[in-house]
Amino acid sequence: LVSRKRKQEDTIVEVRGEKIGDGEQRIIAGPCSVESFEQVDEVAAALKKQGIKLMRGGAFKPRTSPYDFQGLGEEGLRILKKVSEKHDLAVISEIVTPHDMEKAEEYLDVIQIGARNMQNFELLKAAGKTNKPILLKRGLSATIKELINAAEYINSQGNGQIILCERGIRTYETATRNTLDISAVPILKQETHLPVLVDVTHSTGRRDLLLPTAKAALAVGADGVMTEVHPDPAVALSDSAQQMDIPQFEEFLTKLTESGLYK
Ligand code: PEP
Ligand code: MN
Repeated sequence: LVSRKRKQEDTIVEVRGEKIGDGEQRIIAGPCSVESFEQVDEVAAALKKQGIKLMRGGAFKPRTSPYDFQGLGEEGLRILKKVSEKHDLAVISEIVTPHDMEKAEEYLDVIQIGARNMQNFELLKAAGKTNKPILLKRGLSATIKELINAAEYINSQGNGQIILCERGIRTYETATRNTLDISAVPILKQETHLPVLVDVTHSTGRRDLLLPTAKAALAVGADGVMTEVHPDPAVALSDSAQQMDIPQFEEFLTKLTESGLYK
C-alpha cells in the first residue's frame, strides 16, 4: 500500500493546516522531554516567532537505562496539549504501548512511534486503527525494507497518514551517536509515496552537526527536518549534549534559510 508502484501521487499528511509532503520543507522542533509547562511554553513561543507550526516533545521516554528520566507520561501529554492550544501549534509525541493509544488520540495531533518500537507490531497495528497521523521512525538496526514493512503494517490496518523518519542507524562508527543514512531519504522517496523527514538530533548526537546534516537532508529531498530545542540544554533531563538553546535554534534557521535549501 505504501509502495510507489501502487500509488504515483505523493501522500500529503495534513496537520492543523500544515501539509507535510506537499513539496515544501517543514521544521519540527521541541524539547527531547517535556519537563514542565514553562519549559514547553518557552520553546513554543520561540517556534511561533519563527513561523514554525509543528512542535515535538517526549512524554513517554524510551530510555536506554531504567535509571534515566522516564518522562512525565500522561501529565506530559496534558502539558503539550495545553501549550499547543495556547500557541496554536500542532504537537507530536511518542507512545510506547498500544494501551496509551486513546490518551494519544486525546492529546496529540501526530503520534510518534520511536526507533525502539519500529517493530512493535501490536503498536503498529493499533496505529493503523487510529485516525491520527503517525510519525514512524526507523529502528536502530532496521533496514530500509523493514521500515517500509513497518509502515505497511500501519497502512494495512487502514491508516495511510504516515510520515517516515530517518534517524540514524547503528554502525561501527563512534564519532556520531548513530550514522545518518542520508541515502535512505531518496530511496524512501522513490520506493514509497510517503513524506520523509530526517531527525538530525538523534542521528548525530552532536550539536555541531545539526546544521550540515539538515542541509544534506533537504538537499537530498527530505520533506522536513526534526530537531531538539530546549530553553537551557545544560540542565535538560535528557539529551543534554545535542539540544540547541533558543538563540542557537534561531541561528540554525537563519543559516538554513541562507543556504537556499529551506524556504
Ligand atoms: C525521540 O524522538 O524522542 C527519540 C527517542 O528518538 P528515537 O526513537 O529515534 O531514538
Ligand atoms: Mn532526544
